[in-house]
Order: sequence, then C-alpha cells, then structure tokens
Amino acid sequence: MPDFSEQSFLNAHFLNPDRSNLPEIRKLGYAFVDLIVDGVLDTQNQAFIQDSSPFVSIIPEQGEALTEIIDAVRSQILPRTINFHNPRYMGHMDSIPAAVSIWADALISAVNNNMLSYELSPIFTQMEAQLMQWFGNLFGMGTDCFGTLTAGGSLANISAMLLARNWKQPQSKDLGNIDHLVAFVSDAAHTSFEKAMNVVGLGKDNLLRVPSNDRGEIILEALESMVQQQIQLGKQPFFIAAIAGTTITGAVDPIQAVGRLAKQYDCWFHVDAAYGGAGIFTPKLQPLFQGCDLADSLTFNPQKWLWVSRTCAMLLVKNRQHLIDGFDGKLPYMDDQTLNFGNLNLQGTRRTDSLKLWMVLKSMGTSGCQYMVERSLELSDRLVKWINDDPELELVCEPTLNIICLRSANPDVSSSDLRQKWIDEGKLWLSLPLWKGDRILKAVILHPYAG
Ligand SMILES: *Cc1c(COP(=O)(O)O)cnc(C)c1O
Repeated sequence: MPDFSEQSFLNAHFLNPDRSNLPEIRKLGYAFVDLIVDGVLDTQNQAFIQDSSPFVSIIPEQGEALTEIIDAVRSQILPRTINFHNPRYMGHMDSIPAAVSIWADALISAVNNNMLSYELSPIFTQMEAQLMQWFGNLFGMGTDCFGTLTAGGSLANISAMLLARNWKQPQSKDLGNIDHLVAFVSDAAHTSFEKAMNVVGLGKDNLLRVPSNDRGEIILEALESMVQQQIQLGKQPFFIAAIAGTTITGAVDPIQAVGRLAKQYDCWFHVDAAYGGAGIFTPKLQPLFQGCDLADSLTFNPQKWLWVSRTCAMLLVKNRQHLIDGFDGKLPYMDDQTLNFGNLNLQGTRRTDSLKLWMVLKSMGTSGCQYMVERSLELSDRLVKWINDDPELELVCEPTLNIICLRSANPDVSSSDLRQKWIDEGKLWLSLPLWKGDRILKAVILHPYAG
C-alpha cells in the first residue's frame, strides 16, 4: 500500500523544487521507455489484437501506485490495442510513427507550450510559421503562402470551407449565411466535406457530388455541367475541391484542370492532399501535383504518409490574408500586432505539434522523405505483383499511390470472407470499404517493412 501523506502524494506527481524526488521522476520515465519499446514497438511479430474481451474501468477513490498502473497498462490495455506495428496490418491510413516522433510527443507534453498565442509559445510560433511557408513553397503555392497546423485533415477541410465562404461573402461573418452557396467535390471525396457544409451552416444538400471514373478520379465534363446547372438554378458556386489521394482508391484528380475550372467560375479552389501530399517528395509523383499553384488552400496530413505521430495535419493557404480575414479572430488579452495562431485556427489552445514534425523532417531530410515515399511505392508494386500472380484475386483498379484495391476473383469466396480468413490466419489485415456499390478489399502500404 503506497504512502499517501501529502508530501509523498505531491512527490509522486510533480518534481519537488528541492529536487529530492528527481531520481523517482526519472525512474518513472525509464519505466515508460521500457513499456513503449518492449510493449509497443517490439510487437511486430504479435497478433493484430491479442485480447478482444471487454474492458472495464474503475476509477478508485484512493490513487494507486504508478508502477501498478504501468503494469496494468502492460497486461490489460496494450493487449487490447490494434497492433499497427505488425507489418501485415495494412487496413487503413494508419502508419507507425518514426521513433523520434514518439519521444518528441512526450517532449511536447513536458514543455506544454500553447499555440494559442506568441507569448505562450514563442519558439513554436516561429517554427510553425516557417514550416507552413516551407510546405507552401514545396507545393508551389507562391511567396505569400501561409498556413496552420490542425488536429486532423477533417478540421483542415472544414477550415478551408469556412475561409472560402468568408472570401466569397465576407458579410456572412456578421450576418450568417445570406445566399445560395453551393460547393463541388467528387463522389470519391472524404466525408469531412459534408461535415464542413454542416458546420459552416450551408447544409449538406448544397454539397454537390460529382461522379468519378472507375479509378476514383473526378470526371471534368460532369463537374462543369453540374456547375452550369446550379448557376441556371440560381445557385452561386463558391468552392471546388480536387482530391490528391482519395480515401478509398488513392486516386488523384486532375488538379490543374479542376483548378482552372474553379478559377473560371470564380470559385475558391481547395486541394485535399490529406493523404497523397507526401507524394510531393518524389519526382515520380510530382507531376500529379501540377496545378497546386492555383490552390487557394490545401490540406495535408503528415500523420498519414509521413510517419509523424497523431495528431499532425495542416491547412495551407496561398494568400496569408485569407487566413487572417477568414477567421477574423481577436484575442483581447493579447497584443494584436504579434502572430497569434489562436486567431488563425478553429482551435484555441493547441499542442505544439510543429516540434515533432520539425524533428522528423530534420532527421530524415528531404532525401529521406523521398526514400521513404518511394519505398512504400516499391512495396506496393510487390503487392500488386502478388495479386496479379494469384488467379483467386484481382485488382479493382490500377493504383496511383500506395493504396491497392483488390477483390476475390473466385465466385465462391466473397471478399469479406477472404478478409476474415486472412485476419484469423494472421496473414494480412485489410479493410473492407464500400466502392461503387461493392465491398472490396483495400491495402494501404505505410509500414516500412510491410508484407
Ligand atoms: C484522412 C482524410 C481526411 C481526413 O483527415 P482526418 O485527419 O482523419 O480528419 C480528409 N481527406 C482525405 C482525402 C483523407 O484521406
């Protein structure tokens, strides 16, 4: 039974200014290092899930010893997690983080600065600003580009929609929605665009879903005719997005052509590169990103294909002023001459995620990012070859990135049965998305040792 006198209670939770408990605090850290290395990272040979039994949590009246809690995490919590460290897991867009990102996350928590304002995060405000300009330049978004990190791609897409509405109808910031605005994305685009229309108050029915081809790329002629149709109905198109890496097939829309159409109809042009954005690091995929210079905004998630731990996503804008005007934020308790990210983001208090992103980029370098992205493409080619060599399997469509969609070619075995069999055998963990009316199998090749 631990000692719960006031001083020992405080010492268990915080460093004493007299430094007497420095060794205990350090020991606690080492216990976490062992837990993470042995209990999480070194589980590549272990099952996808070891224990599926229900978990029951009881919060005690008297706090328990930290060593006991760590033991409980090891024996009861970790076996119930889904094991992304197993190289045969390739179901969704879930990468394992680079080692440095894991430790950086603990560092971020320890420093605990706040992206709300410059005075609460001086170095990280500078770091995030520089990283946003660096990524904006990488995508060719011009000298006036800027952006903000967000807690995920959905939040970045919602923010883009808000900026677009406030650009098209600045009065809406004060008066609410005043006109019949309509937005366009393909039927393969992420569901966060519906969420965005709901949040911005424009209504999900005013998001028009443009048909895509068999691969999941937007059909341009359909886009243009739908835009014209809406204008004839008295609606005002304000937002068109191209997707760079759709969530199911990893398709990349013709960015430049969609962007030109958006500009022709005086619409905000958004590129959702939440998934595919990392492709910009390799010359093999760079041609697909032509036209990002036309983008008013762009979403990119390093937490998906750049091996940065969650959360780490960003919204980039071509014109810094759009971000300032769009949020129109003021922090009465802060100097309004300085850069305060709390004014440029839907979130207020926010983690300093720039630190782990910066550490991953510094340690990999752009050549390392290129190597890692190309490595996932090569591992994907191997999977495609394996599918083509097996008469029981077939590709659903030619992959563009490291997302491979396949199905059972045997009429007696459904894709769903095949998936369950593979999971039960520990062979592969694939997902089972609904694609053009059918359940298919999807593999996302993110694990550096996938296979
Ligand atoms: C994953 C994804 C999103 C949403 O990102 P979250 O971080 O899950 O919110 C948006 N768009 C595309 C294309 C995605 O693949």
